[in-house]
Amino acid sequence: MFDLKGKTALVTGGSRGIGRAICEALAKQGAHVAVNYVRGEENARAVVTAIEAAGGTAELAGFDVGHMAEAETAVTALAKKLGKLDILVANAGISIDGLLLRLKEDDLDRLFAVNVKGSLGCAKAAVKSMMRTKGGRIIFVSSVVGEMGNAGQTAYAASKAALLGITKSLAREYASRNITVNAIAPGFIETDMTHALPEAARSELNKAIPLGRVGTAAEIAAAAVYLASDEGGYVTGQTLRVNGGMYV
Ligand code: NAD
Repeated sequence: MFDLKGKTALVTGGSRGIGRAICEALAKQGAHVAVNYVRGEENARAVVTAIEAAGGTAELAGFDVGHMAEAETAVTALAKKLGKLDILVANAGISIDGLLLRLKEDDLDRLFAVNVKGSLGCAKAAVKSMMRTKGGRIIFVSSVVGEMGNAGQTAYAASKAALLGITKSLAREYASRNITVNAIAPGFIETDMTHALPEAARSELNKAIPLGRVGTAAEIAAAAVYLASDEGGYVTGQTLRVNGGMYV
């Protein structure tokens, strides 16, 4: 089950957190993984080294997802270099939190540049390659707050909700090309991003999780492996919620 031998994958923002776990999980199932990063090449190198130490194969793919055209060009070049791109996991994301009254247009622009436009640029290049090879898997990493909303996260939630509309539209647009497009909506996952939250916000969030604990990056990675696999081939246009019951 979930054999990815012979597949090539790109994971954006793969140098740490959820992205790193997804890189390692895809590689463990046999995929050759391109680990994207924008800063922190050292971290990305460490991911490649860890994958190779575990018997897998991986390579670095440094480019800025925050510039749509740059992302599209880089993914096109990567697909050409690898010969094909079977799996794209658009995981790179940033969060800028704050109440509406403090919202700055620049912050909104930055959030949409990385979380939405950058993901779309990667998807556009991936689709072109996948159409040539007659199939593929695109997985967007959204968020529970894109569906349920969260006070103080309006702009971030908007960017993550946008990914769900994109997922449904692209799923319909490319189903006939044997390309599935799905989203994963993680709940509260222990990573650097959530470490940045104030303690009070963390304990409030914990209370809102029926399973009574935060999730792990590996639990998100398992969902990505499923959606990337042949076994997940009849699933498209869906949002897989991995959130401990926080939003059902
Ligand atoms: P993280 O901050 O640890 O990782 C985000 C990754 O994206 C980093 O590797 C970062 O370098 C990369 N990135 C940011 N801007 C980039 C750019 N312009 N170009 C290339 N890479 C860029 O966060 P994480 O918690 O691992 O989050 C991963 C994804 O999961 C994000 O999209 C996030 O919104 C989403 N998410 C996280 C949680 C959570 O609780 N941690 C919950 C829901 C959704």
